[in-house]
Amino acid sequence: MKGLISGIKRMEIHDGDGLRTTVFFKGCPLKCIWCHNPESISRDVQIAYFKDKCIYCGECARSCSSGAINMIDKRIITDGKKCSLCLNCVDACPTGARSFFSKEYSVTELVDTVIDDKDFFINGSGGVTLSGGECLFQPNFAIEVAKEFYARGVSVYIDTCGFAQKSVFERILPYVDAFLYDVKAIDEKVHYECTGQSNALILDNLEFLLSKGAKVEIRFPLVKNYNDNQTEKIGKYLSKFDNPPKIKVLKYHSFAGSRYLSLNMKNTLPQVETTNSDVQNAVNILKNKYALNAINGVTES
Ligand code: SF4
Ligand code: SF4
Repeated sequence: MKGLISGIKRMEIHDGDGLRTTVFFKGCPLKCIWCHNPESISRDVQIAYFKDKCIYCGECARSCSSGAINMIDKRIITDGKKCSLCLNCVDACPTGARSFFSKEYSVTELVDTVIDDKDFFINGSGGVTLSGGECLFQPNFAIEVAKEFYARGVSVYIDTCGFAQKSVFERILPYVDAFLYDVKAIDEKVHYECTGQSNALILDNLEFLLSKGAKVEIRFPLVKNYNDNQTEKIGKYLSKFDNPPKIKVLKYHSFAGSRYLSLNMKNTLPQVETTNSDVQNAVNILKNKYALNAINGVTES
């Protein structure tokens, strides 16, 4: 069994407890307009071109036997329809201006690649976080990876948008120490407008995990003028549980624009500023009005 991974990041401190290695799975069922990992949205292999790193040497065009790359007047033009994804141009590029965000791994290859950090995880009380994209969008691969890490004594966290069949959560639950679970909106209409999907399945799965006593940390990405009117509704929704999960409010930023450009994707990032005080205000509401264990993702206090 093989899975498609868009990247592996070591020594992460924001993807769960302790120092963790985060594995980014490729592909996501949601289309969040504020997505800061555009390379993880599609399940396809994608070649990126970073114009600011290009020295216009023409090596990529010379290496391409499909005629997909042309250099015209110091401009590199790639015809995606002709590209066979051979990756020759990525190897030929001396500056890293051409790169790709996907690599296929077997379960063992992926676990062996990450397990080098095992001593580090143990000393730092961390582990591995399966993220994305949406790791559960490759459900069987994610389950087998989690199972293998578990068997090797490595803590597994799942960073998820929650949009997967309940049976997938049932199957992966025994191998997972915690879920970092996105709640972006309670109003279905708002959720649909921001992500392209209903939140019914997401909330249903969350309730399932909580009913099973799973350790869950809610992640609320706060995007001013888009879902900031959901703070009260999320507070009210979570406070109905007997043992409400911790909730971390995350600050939106629009830094990923260059990656959309490099992948020739439409940049959907809202051009709004969510400030630190917006985040703190949301935290205060969740704490003071709804008695939730709310954390400011900016200050981590
Ligand atoms: S991946 Fe291969 S076919 Fe596609 S542009 Fe690069 S060299 Fe050409
Ligand atoms: S090989 Fe790299 S640096 Fe050279 S022209 Fe192509 S993209 Fe630019």
